[in-house]
Order: sequence, then structure tokens, then C-alpha cells
Amino acid sequence: MRILRSGRPWTALRVLQSLHEGLLDLLFPPRCAVCQQIGAPYLCDACIVAFPPLGSPVCRICGTPVPATEALRSPVLDLAALCGACRHQTQHHFTWARAAGSYDGLLREAIHRLKYDHRKGLGYRLGDWAHRAGGTALQPPSVPDLVVPVPLHWTRARQRGFNQSLLVAQGFVGQRTWPIATDALVRTRRTRPQVDLDADQRAANVANAFAVSGRHPVHGKRVLIVDDVLTTMHTVDECARVLKAAGAREVFVVAVAR
Ligand SMILES: [Zn+2]
Ligand SMILES: [Zn+2]
Repeated sequence: MRILRSGRPWTALRVLQSLHEGLLDLLFPPRCAVCQQIGAPYLCDACIVAFPPLGSPVCRICGTPVPATEALRSPVLDLAALCGACRHQTQHHFTWARAAGSYDGLLREAIHRLKYDHRKGLGYRLGDWAHRAGGTALQPPSVPDLVVPVPLHWTRARQRGFNQSLLVAQGFVGQRTWPIATDALVRTRRTRPQVDLDADQRAANVANAFAVSGRHPVHGKRVLIVDDVLTTMHTVDECARVLKAAGAREVFVVAVAR
């Protein structure tokens, strides 16, 4: 009654909404999507603590963990922080790539729940975790002018209903003012999951699979690509290649896991 007398219909509406939300919480209490513990929406602290770390040191370009013994063996300090591939054959189009954790155990489970159980809230939580847990190690070398989530092909985006990389990007950026361009890049054809392919097939699978849409100028900009998992570096490297071809000044990469 008190609500109705207030003469402000939005107040009544808000109370109805919160009653509705309260009822939903009672019927479907928030749970950790990984361990199902009640009380923690999407991700509980116990699961977060158990996420497997990547290990260090890592290659200063691609972020691959480098065995400490190998890193120490190099007489040249600058080469010490490069993985074997970056030292000998691979020329990446990005200048810096990092992941927050190892794609294993509960972290792998969390990413599966996000993608296959459609637990969208997990995407933001995982991006936020990557930012917090990664600390300075996941801080790009320069402030990005544009954040670009790795795009899904539109058929897959329609199927899934969301792009998990965009959710991760939103969580990773958090309170920072870095602009996120959802459609700066498009996936021009469907590709097979990299995890199903052998090393030789992976580069061909994503070759020419991306294009710059032209909806957000990238020329002269520092671009941060965000992905959920780096299965291989081929996908993000191909994204970086087209961004650089369109004039991007520098490309960085961040992912939740690798
Ligand atoms: Zn949990
Ligand atoms: Zn490397």
C-alpha cells in the first residue's frame, strides 16, 4: 500500500522487479557454474584459487612458458626470454601475447561451462579474473587504442547466441576506458576448431578467415585482441596479420588460458 501511495509507478515496478528477482534467487539460488556451490554467482573463490597457473618464465613475444633451465642457459640475456619457435623460425604479426592460466583442470572446466552451457556471466568473471590474477604480467606494453575480441562466424554466433571472447574482453577491460570494438574484425568463413586439427592443418584452417570490417578505423592504432583460449597462436596471428595489413600500428593479444 505504501508503495502505491507514493504516486511513483516506477517505484512499484522496481519493488515488483526485486520481488521477482528475490523469488528467482529463492527458486534458483546463484551457484558457481563449475562446482555448483550455492551462493557464488558463476564462479566461487575455491574454484578460482584452483585455476592452474601457466608457469614462468614465458617467452617475451608469444607468452609460451620457457623452461627455466633453458632460459638460464642462453648467454645472451635478450634471447633468454624467447621460446625456441620465436628464436628460430616464427615471425608473429603481434608483438606481445599473454594468457592468464593453463587450459587445464578447473579453468578448462570453467571455459567449457561458458561456451557449451551458455553461462554468459562466466565470460565476464573469467576476463576479470585474467586481469586481476595476471597483474602486471597481463598488462599490455602500451595502453591499447582499441580492444578487439576474436570474432565468431555469424552462423556460430547465432547458434551460440553470444561471442565468449567479447564477454571476456568486457571483464578484462573492466573499469578501464579502453574502447571495445565488437565488429572491427569479422570472420569471413567458418573454420574447424583448431583443437581437432594437427599442426600442419591449423595454419591453413584460419588462413584468410578474418577481415577488417571497416566499421572501426584501425589505422595507426594499438590494438588488443582478446580470446578465451589460445589453442595455437595461428588464430590470433591471423587476426593480427589483417589488422596490421589495415594499418594497425601494433597488435597485442590477451587470453584467459592457453
Ligand atoms: Zn566453484
Ligand atoms: Zn615465443
